[in-house]
Amino acid sequence: MSKSPDRLVILTGAGISAESGLPTFRGADGLWEGHRVEDVASPVAFARDPELVHRFYNLRRAALRTVEPNAAHLALARLEAAWRGSFLLVTQNVDDLHDRAGSRRLLHMHGELIRARCKACRHGWEWRDDLSPDSICPSCGKSGRVRPDIVWFGEEPLHLGEIFDALSRASLFIAIGTSGHVYPAAGFVDVARGAGARAIEINLADTAASAAFDERRTGPATDLVPALVEELLAAQSVG
Ligand code: NAD
Ligand code: ZN
Repeated sequence: MSKSPDRLVILTGAGISAESGLPTFRGADGLWEGHRVEDVASPVAFARDPELVHRFYNLRRAALRTVEPNAAHLALARLEAAWRGSFLLVTQNVDDLHDRAGSRRLLHMHGELIRARCKACRHGWEWRDDLSPDSICPSCGKSGRVRPDIVWFGEEPLHLGEIFDALSRASLFIAIGTSGHVYPAAGFVDVARGAGARAIEINLADTAASAAFDERRTGPATDLVPALVEELLAAQSVG
C-alpha cells in the first residue's frame, strides 16, 4: 500500500460472523435457518403471524449466548483502537459480536437482536430475553405492540445520513462477508469510489458487487481480516 489511507469506512455482513457459528442468510437453499425471509423478516409477516416472528427472533437472540466474537471481529476492534484517522464500522448484522469484540465507532444499520421497540410509542430499549405478543412496553404500558428492533425488508435502514456522509469522505472502503444483494448497502462501494476511495472486498467467493472493487481477497474472514489489519497498521506506522 503506497500511502496510508486515513479515512476508513468498513462494511460487514453475515459472513464475518459465520465462523463464530451464526449461519449466513443466503445459504445454498436460499433460506434463513429454514425460513423464507419474507415469512419472518417483514412487517407483513409480523402482522400476519406475530408468534412465528417472535419465535424466530427469540431463537436468534438465544443463539447469541452460545457464540463468541472471532478473530475477524477482534482485529477490527484492534484496528479502530490504533487507527489515527477517522474510522467508521457499519454492520448489516443484527448480532452483537462487534460490540462484544470492543468496536465503538459502530453503526448497526439493520437494527439489533438485543433491542426491542414499541410500535405504539416508538420507545426502544435493550432487551436480551424472549419477546411475545404479550410483552409490555416499559414506556407506554401497552401490550401487543412490542417488536424486535430489526430493520425488516421494505423498511428503511438506520443511520443512513451518517453513513453516506462518511462514505462521501472515505479514502479506503472495505466490505467483509457481505453478498452485495441487499441495498442500499450493496451500493456503498460505488459511493465511496465516487468520492475517490480505494475499495477492498473480503469474501469466501466472488459476489454480485465484486466487479466494483479495486481489490478482492478471497478466503475466510478469520484469516484475511487480521492479515489486512496488520498491513494497514504497518502502513500507518511508516506513513
Ligand atoms: P448474506 O448472508 O447475504 O451473505 C453472506 C456473505 O458472506 C456471502 O457473500 C458469503 O460468501 C460470505 N461468507 C460466508 N462465510 C464467510 C467467511 N467465513 N468469511 C468471509 N466471507 C464469508 O449476508 P448479508 O450480505 O450480510 O445480508 C444478510 C442480511 O440478513 C443482513 O441484512 C442481516 O441483517 C441479516 N442476517 C444477519 C445475521 C447476523 O447478524 N449474524 C445472520 C444472517 C442474516
Ligand atoms: Zn410504548
